[in-house]
Amino acid sequence: MEKKKKKLKTYNFYTVMMQALRPVWRNHPTRREFFKNSRSAPNTWICAECGKKCAGASKGKKSEFRIDHIEPVIPLTGFTNWDDVIRRLITGPHNLQVLCLVCHGVKSKAENAARRKHKKDLL
Ligand SMILES: [Zn+2]
Repeated sequence: MEKKKKKLKTYNFYTVMMQALRPVWRNHPTRREFFKNSRSAPNTWICAECGKKCAGASKGKKSEFRIDHIEPVIPLTGFTNWDDVIRRLITGPHNLQVLCLVCHGVKSKAENAARRKHKKDLL
């Protein structure tokens, strides 16, 4: 029997850098502060889009919401440079909102579609 070769995962520089930046923002004081201040009741956040009550992470349960950048980290016109990404990632509370997983998924999908369309229009 022929042994299946394990497929090596390939990582591009962009993906590696984005993954490295994520915890920088996750632990940033502005994000922590927003997380605390946007709570509407103990362990409860309200989706800015649909008004759904969302619980935070607890006892093996994942958080039911995301802290969303209103103005996305990667512009709809696409990646420019890392200085820009970092500047947009480390943002102020005015640019943050709580979104439930569904609304966050819808927004991300629309943003990705807009980026793809922009890229296509450039060709
Ligand atoms: Zn929602």
